[in-house]
Amino acid sequence: MKLPFRLIATLVLISLTGTFAYQAYWLTGLYGTMTHEMEKNIHEAMRMSDYREMMLRIKKMQRENGQHGSVEVQAGYEAGSENPVVSRDIKDDEGNRLRKDTLAPEESSAMLRSDNGLALILHDQGSTQALAGFIQRGIHSGIDLFSSPDITVYDSLLTLQLQEYGIRLPHHLEYFRTHTTPDSSQVFVDTLGRVQSAGYLPSKKAVRYDYTLNMSLSETYRLTMEPVDGLILKQMGGILATSLVILLILGFTFGYLVRTILRQKTLEEMKSDFTNNITHELKTPIAVAYAANDALLHFGLAEDRQQREKYLGICQEQLQRLGGLVEQILSMSMERRKSFRLHPERICLKTLFPTLIEQHRLKAGKPVEVALDIEPEELVLTADRIHLSNILSNLMDNAIKYSPAKAEIGIRCRKTESGQVEIAVSDHGTGIPADKLPHVFDKFYRVPTGNVHNTKGYGLGLFYVKTMTEKHNGNVSVKSEPGKGSTFTIRI
Ligand code: ADP
Repeated sequence: MKLPFRLIATLVLISLTGTFAYQAYWLTGLYGTMTHEMEKNIHEAMRMSDYREMMLRIKKMQRENGQHGSVEVQAGYEAGSENPVVSRDIKDDEGNRLRKDTLAPEESSAMLRSDNGLALILHDQGSTQALAGFIQRGIHSGIDLFSSPDITVYDSLLTLQLQEYGIRLPHHLEYFRTHTTPDSSQVFVDTLGRVQSAGYLPSKKAVRYDYTLNMSLSETYRLTMEPVDGLILKQMGGILATSLVILLILGFTFGYLVRTILRQKTLEEMKSDFTNNITHELKTPIAVAYAANDALLHFGLAEDRQQREKYLGICQEQLQRLGGLVEQILSMSMERRKSFRLHPERICLKTLFPTLIEQHRLKAGKPVEVALDIEPEELVLTADRIHLSNILSNLMDNAIKYSPAKAEIGIRCRKTESGQVEIAVSDHGTGIPADKLPHVFDKFYRVPTGNVHNTKGYGLGLFYVKTMTEKHNGNVSVKSEPGKGSTFTIRI
């Protein structure tokens, strides 16, 4: 089946980008909401602290002064006219009027018409928060007549309240009053108090939060603090980390998926190449063995002993080649691996190698020199004879195939300290680049040679060697240097 790789890759890319964009959108939204919430909290903390500071003053006054009075603030419009009037009636605790002032018409007007002023109460009765603010400012105007706000107390209360909201930042606090000249041409600012966290100097990025506390909106607490961005990012730390981990996992999973599909695709192509070529390859030994057999049967060659042995030898060699090819094909199939059984026997290497070397010399088609070194001479190992022959055949085949015009091969057999037998097949051939070495034992892998295709093969020989040595509880390793040669070592 041809995999719609482009489609899969596009879909994967779209879904990854989509997920990433959605996460970014969601996180930005959350950041916005949290910033808004924190600013709301700061304003609320300023209002609450103001209220508490006022209550503390009232309690203090009650303790210090047995006499109590009342302050009535009246606001409205002059009967039958559009002119606003605000008046203040101060009485002692027996109800005797101590003082009554009426604000100047411009001041009353400013108070009533301002957005947060009385106009809100008169026109938008539903706004409870504004109503609360208005009442608070009303109380202020009464209390402040007897005792002024204490900015130090306010600062302590504010610091506590901010901490309760998780805002622990150094700040600067100012309490000031603004006056406007009657013709509104000039504004004067009187600083009434200032408190500051130890060693804090507001930077250029510092943010100001104003809270107006009295009825005529002329007195303000100004809080100056560094931006809360860092705090919010800190609070979002867990969410950010989780999102990052999710994205990383997703990216990794998709990457892995694409890689697997790519591998599958290459494997699929290799398999189809292999099937096409191997069919051709299988035909040759069958045809040669068939012809030799035919000569023996139909042309009377069986009578001549020398000829008979020669033709039977050809048949055997071709059948062996066929057997080797079939083994390679079978080594790929899972079913066979499950029901696979070895037939181990004790094999004396001294007797195994000469035949193998002779066979390879004959079929090599180029001069082959083999230096065989078995130590001790009678070295014996326990293995399946057919598979061991195939393993060694594959290694020798490669050593010859990947050697220049003349192949010089070394075979060295030793017993290792762990009791295993080690057989190393080395050559002075083309060698394998270091970055390709880890793949040479993979199924269908062939070191890329660009456009040069002068050595035949399917990339199955070493896969077979590895599979079979592992079946023998052994292992195979390779050392190679391009241009100098390679050494493949099996340990069984
Ligand atoms: P192939 O049928 O292609 O030889 P193998 O599985 O036997 O397949 O080998 C895999 C690849 O490893 C070969 O294509 C070749 O590039 C490289 N290789 C194997 N043996 C040698 C060697 N002795 N010298 C250089 N390269 C080798």
